[in-house]
Formats: sequence, structure tokens, C-alpha cells
Amino acid sequence: MTDPDNQFTQPVYHESDADRRHLEDKTVAVLGYGSQGHAHAQNLADSGVDVVVGLRENSSSRDAAEADGLRVETPVDAASDADVVSVLVPDTVQPEVFEAIEPELEAGDTLQLAHGFNVHYGQVEPPERVDVTMVAPKSPGHLVRRNYEAGQGTPALLAVYQNATGEARQEGLAYADAIGCARAGVVETTFREETETDLFGEQAVLCGGVAELTKAGYETLVDAGYSPEMAYFECLNELKLIVDLMYEDGLTAMWDSVSDTAEYGGLTRGEAVIDESVRENMEAVLEQVQNGEFAREWIAENQANRPAYRQRRNAEQNHEVEAVGERLRQLFAWADEETAQETQHEQEVSADD
Ligand code: NAD
Ligand code: MG
Repeated sequence: MTDPDNQFTQPVYHESDADRRHLEDKTVAVLGYGSQGHAHAQNLADSGVDVVVGLRENSSSRDAAEADGLRVETPVDAASDADVVSVLVPDTVQPEVFEAIEPELEAGDTLQLAHGFNVHYGQVEPPERVDVTMVAPKSPGHLVRRNYEAGQGTPALLAVYQNATGEARQEGLAYADAIGCARAGVVETTFREETETDLFGEQAVLCGGVAELTKAGYETLVDAGYSPEMAYFECLNELKLIVDLMYEDGLTAMWDSVSDTAEYGGLTRGEAVIDESVRENMEAVLEQVQNGEFAREWIAENQANRPAYRQRRNAEQNHEVEAVGERLRQLFAWADEETAQETQHEQEVSADD
């Protein structure tokens, strides 16, 4: 269905659609003080919402949260005090944290998440008495915080999984507004759609697809006798320049910015590389996401202490392109300094025991 007020296929909400009274006289517990947690907690507090941060007794994030002027309790105590419990600990530890806090969720409370994986795949089974919502900013937490402080917003997704009170959507929208996301736009989706598209995107296109495309291109050039330095520049370094153009203004702007030779060659040879067989592979990856096969594999992998994950991570770190890149990136020391500040902040807020 098309939203009557705009040209999007899903409802897109703005500040004028949000009513902060849905959070009035309520306490929001933010569990975790990492990338998303520190941003949600501080933005909510600055928006006048009563916030308590839930962290383990020995968590190294406690000092950071207290230094930011926030009240800190254990996750169980925070959830007990709260009407809305925003679970922003890593996805792999959410099931155990949920098990601990579930008894604190009273009828009419809200379980609020920023990713649908655990609920969609049944790793967290919320009781019927609570609302279950998702507000998922479409950016890392440091940008959610920085944009808020600059008076701007970060777009977010909003989904309702369970609506015990009948007001889950309005309360979720008030939450999205209080962390600044309604200033940009809040797109409605479902837990299923958010989870499956997120997994597919990171596997097939963003992380998995791009890393393999890069290595395949690099290896093709080096195997044909070209120098590793040239292969690195062509297949990895320049990726950022192309992606920035696509990010800013779309594919047309990217094609406009490159030479006509690059445009003609790319348009004709690109589809020879990413051909029908690649699309079939993508469909197979999507099917494993949809039928739960990937989720079961990843959950079992975590229960077994991640043997395959460690092995693959190690192999990737030892790929030749990494050694070549490390040497060549020293020629770009100025680029490091520009981003050093934000990276350092990211690490500070994510660092935990
Ligand atoms: P993170 O790894 O940056 O931070 C998690 C924090 O949880 C840690 O800093 C620590 O304070 C705390 N923590 C860890 N183990 C804990 C435990 N056992 N008990 C209590 N607290 C514990 O996590 P993140 O990237 O902010 O992800 C949080 C949620 O947000 C996830 O569901 C993720 O999918 C979602 N999300 C993340 C991003 C992103 O860009 N990082 C974007 C959108 C949604
Ligand atoms: Mg409660």
C-alpha cells in the first residue's frame, strides 16, 4: 500500500506524527552502553525522558555512562524500574540478558530492540503481556548521537511485533522522535523484513559480496602478472571513491562522474561478471536466511565458541591484499588523522570487558 502523504511504498513518519506524551511519566531502561546504547541513552535523556542505564557490575562502560551524567544500575534493577526496556547489548548475548530481565517485565511494559534477529528467529520469546517494538537507526551510534547534538536526525526503521497495549506504534514513534530520528524520517517495516533484508544485504552485497569481489579482482590481476600495488589501488582503494558517489546521488551520478570509457566498459562488462549465476547464488543465500538455516548455523557456531568464525577471520586477515594494503595505506596517513577522532570515540564507547 502506498502512503497517502508521500511517494514511499511504506508509511514514513516525521516529527509532526510523533507524540512525546507516550513517554511522559515513563522510565526507559537502556541495557548496554555500546554503539547504539550510549546514543539512545543520552539522546533520550536530553529529550527530557527519564533514563536508567543497565550494565553489569563489572562493566567497563559504567564509568562512561556515569561520566555522561546517567544513572546506572544492573540490567535486572534497571528493567525492574522501567516501563520501556531497550535492549542494546550485542545480539549474541541478548537471549541470556532477556532471560534475566523477563520477570521484571510487567503487563503493559515495552520490550524495545534495535534489530529483529532474536525475536524473529525465536531466540527471545517475549511474554504476551508486553509490547514489542523495534527502533533501528540506519547508522552507527556515534552518528545518531552527533546528528542529534547538531539538531539533525538519523533515519530509522520502526516495527511493531506485539501490540499488547494498542499503543505500541505510537510509543515506538515517540522513542524514535526522542532519539532524534523523526527529524529525518522513520520508515515502518516488520521484524521479519528488517531481519531478512539486513542479513541478506550484509552477506550478499555489503560485507560478503564486496569483500569477495575485491579479492577476486585483486587475485585476477596479480595472477596475470600485474603488481600487487596496482591491483590494490584498482580493486580496493578506489572502491571508496565510487561508493561515495553512489551514496551521495545514486548510480546515475556515479556514471556521470567517471569517464565515458569507464561508463561504457562498466555497463557492458559489469553484467558479464555479476551474471545470472550470481543472481542464482544470491537467491540461495536469501533462501537460507528465510528458512532459518543461516540463523541456526550462527547460533550453533556461537554455542560452540565460534570455531569456523575464528578460522575464517584468520584466513581473511592473512590474505595478501591485507599486507599490501597496510604498506600502501601509510602513504595516506593524512586520511587517518581526519577520521581518528570519530574512530577513537567509537572505540571508547564500544570497549567493554
Ligand atoms: P555494541 O557491541 O556496540 O555494545 C554492546 C554493549 O552491551 C557493550 O558496550 C556493553 O556495554 C554491553 N554488554 C555486553 N555484554 C553485556 C551483558 N552480558 N550484559 C549487559 N550488558 C552487556 O552493540 P551495538 O552495535 O550498539 O548493538 C546493539 C544493538 O543495536 C544490536 O541489536 C544491533 O544489531 C543493533 N544495531 C546496531 C547498529 C550499529 O551500527 N552498531 C545499528 C543498528 C542497530
Ligand atoms: Mg517493569
